[in-house]
Amino acid sequence: MIKRALAIRHLMDLLKVPGPSGGEAAVAALVSAKLIKCGCKKSWLSHDSAHKKIGGGYEVGNLIVKLPGTTKGPRRLFSGHMDTVPLCRGAVPVRRGNRIVPRTRTALGGDNRTAVSCLVTIVETLLHEKLPHPPLTFLFTVGEEVGLRGARQVKSSDLGKPAMGFNYDGGDPAAIIIGATGADRWQAEVRGISSHAGVHPEDGVSAALITSKAISEIAAKGFFGDVRKGKKTGTSNVGPMQGGEATNQVTDLMVLRGECRSHDAAFLDRITETYRSSFEAAAASVKNAAGESGSVKFNIARDYHSFEMKSDSPVVRRTQEAVKELGLEPRLVIANGGLDANWLNRKGIPTVTLGAGQHNAHTLREYADIGEYLLGCELGLSLATTI
Ligand SMILES: [Zn+2]
Repeated sequence: MIKRALAIRHLMDLLKVPGPSGGEAAVAALVSAKLIKCGCKKSWLSHDSAHKKIGGGYEVGNLIVKLPGTTKGPRRLFSGHMDTVPLCRGAVPVRRGNRIVPRTRTALGGDNRTAVSCLVTIVETLLHEKLPHPPLTFLFTVGEEVGLRGARQVKSSDLGKPAMGFNYDGGDPAAIIIGATGADRWQAEVRGISSHAGVHPEDGVSAALITSKAISEIAAKGFFGDVRKGKKTGTSNVGPMQGGEATNQVTDLMVLRGECRSHDAAFLDRITETYRSSFEAAAASVKNAAGESGSVKFNIARDYHSFEMKSDSPVVRRTQEAVKELGLEPRLVIANGGLDANWLNRKGIPTVTLGAGQHNAHTLREYADIGEYLLGCELGLSLATTI
């Protein structure tokens, strides 16, 4: 059903357009132009106001395209993110046999233009071939790579309340992602007391010492880096650390940022809680000669929630059948990074994540597998049309 040459041309076109997180306007414009050219009415296309809620100079909100059904049935959602990582800056896609690769030392942006192009191809094929389909929504999100920021702002009502969703953000079309990790982002503001480090060190409370004790304690408890407790697993990291003004002054402020992840929401709470309590205990334990101690302000933001769908849920079963019809053997997978599907599931739209040929994302070795990309398009077409 898919016109291969056309589908590949869409992908090449879309890979050429820069679209860093927050700068997706040109991608959205190209997608809109392509969709209108293949027969979408202008009134089917709209942008939500996600960019205003995100702030930080985002150019556009999520692009939402709603196709009225030609048959009755619950609405289905297809989604993919438009933004690419900074390593894609200046990428020029070239064809090498069955792959598309970057011409020079950049990433490619197959994460996630393979998805964007796949969605365009599905719409085009539906309209050109006049295939019967229920109401469909195509969602092109912004700001995925910097913490699922577009998907977080999506309103299910703006999407027409879909009953199930198919998000594209992967390589192998036979791998069906049915769960993903959740993540917390935290910031610790460690306050000590300043004094002259050479003359009256006993009057000071060092924020550097508090920080160092806290991190050692977290590691000693087994909650730093790769975290494993029985069957529960997760990860944690201390990222940027800033503090101190002079060598002869007891450091009175350290600001640290980090993250914690786990597939298990309760365990994620436990990891982040260990960070908070360790910082608080360390702050209380460092005292000056007058018995004064330090303090910590520990802020936690849940970046996204983990999810795991049941393997017999309708959307998972339907996807497995469609993969088998393509002659592939479906595999159910849990992803270690966050996906737009984390938020879509959270918003009550049971959503699996599929592959359309992107590989080695966020590296200089990134490529798009054309065979897998075309299979991803076929898979989507089947999911958009089957009863
Ligand atoms: Zn991606």
